[in-house]
Amino acid sequence: MKIDLRSDTLTKPTPAMLEYMMQAEVGDDVYKEDPTVNALETKVAAYFGMDTALYFPTGTMANQAAIKIHTQPGEQLIADAYAHVYNYEGGGVSFNSGVSCKLLSGTRGKITAAQVAGAINPPDFYHSPLTSLVCLENTTNKGGGACYDLEEIKAIREVCNTHELGLHLDGARLWNALVATKQSPKEYGQLFDTISVCLSKGLGAPMGSVLVGKQSLMNKAIRVRKVLGGGMRQLGYMAAAGLYALEHHIERLEEDHERALALAAGLFQIDCVAHVEEVATNIIIFQIDETPRAISFLEYLKSNEVIISDMGQGKLRMVTHYDYTQAQHEHLLQLLSSF
Ligand SMILES: *Cc1c(COP(=O)(O)O)cnc(C)c1O
Repeated sequence: MKIDLRSDTLTKPTPAMLEYMMQAEVGDDVYKEDPTVNALETKVAAYFGMDTALYFPTGTMANQAAIKIHTQPGEQLIADAYAHVYNYEGGGVSFNSGVSCKLLSGTRGKITAAQVAGAINPPDFYHSPLTSLVCLENTTNKGGGACYDLEEIKAIREVCNTHELGLHLDGARLWNALVATKQSPKEYGQLFDTISVCLSKGLGAPMGSVLVGKQSLMNKAIRVRKVLGGGMRQLGYMAAAGLYALEHHIERLEEDHERALALAAGLFQIDCVAHVEEVATNIIIFQIDETPRAISFLEYLKSNEVIISDMGQGKLRMVTHYDYTQAQHEHLLQLLSSF
């Protein structure tokens, strides 16, 4: 039985999702005439209680557009050193926006209000880049699916208000955080100026992200999307997958989280596993030691068709997702306990 836990992006549309997609009413979205895209954007904006939303082909493009509308070339944003916008978007912050990153060493990808306050360049000190934006990530990807405490975000918002900084959330896996912490999406909508969310990860749509935000900022976002080549035509088929996922695939993320916890417990029992990071959502990051036993553990997984991600330096990652079934889960737990 092949078990692929490299990422929650590996999911394929379910038959019910495909059927829903096939029945979508479509139009030309560059003319804003695709009723299904419009419905998706309205739904996501309402979900967060924000003014407006815009569909993007990828989370990277949504984040890059957000950074562009918040900043001017030469300015600086503040983010954790683990941030996706810094590490995994091809250098887009500098390529697209001409902006530099002030990186902070947070805890599992999360930064504090005190750290943010300490990283702001004084606006009248013209030798330094002007700080104009703070980017948070929730859940954190490289941080192993960790979730922010809402109180910390509120404190960061206060700092941003005081210093007139924009606040963007890379919420590729915000759905996971909302399910795990029972925080309210509307509260997020009040705290952030812009939020990007992915439909193509835990929610299981084949593509798509949505950027939600305040009207004044979002008026610029549609032009940036066009510039980046993200204006698409009869997109409703894809938006339908997102609409379907929002209706049917959010609550079930709980299941992914429970399975991730059980896998972590299974890994914890294995002698060559040196450390398992605390599981908060659907990502398990663990460390193996440098013994021959660790090498045979990896070979054991491979020979049993279990595929996971190697993050380097002995760090490994498993991500649970919709296509990781109960049967696969039971089989993998069995494999772990019999190693
Ligand atoms: C996956 C991801 C994105 C966006 O990725 P795309 O592959 O471009 O959709 C952005 N931020 C985080 C934290 C992610 O995990």
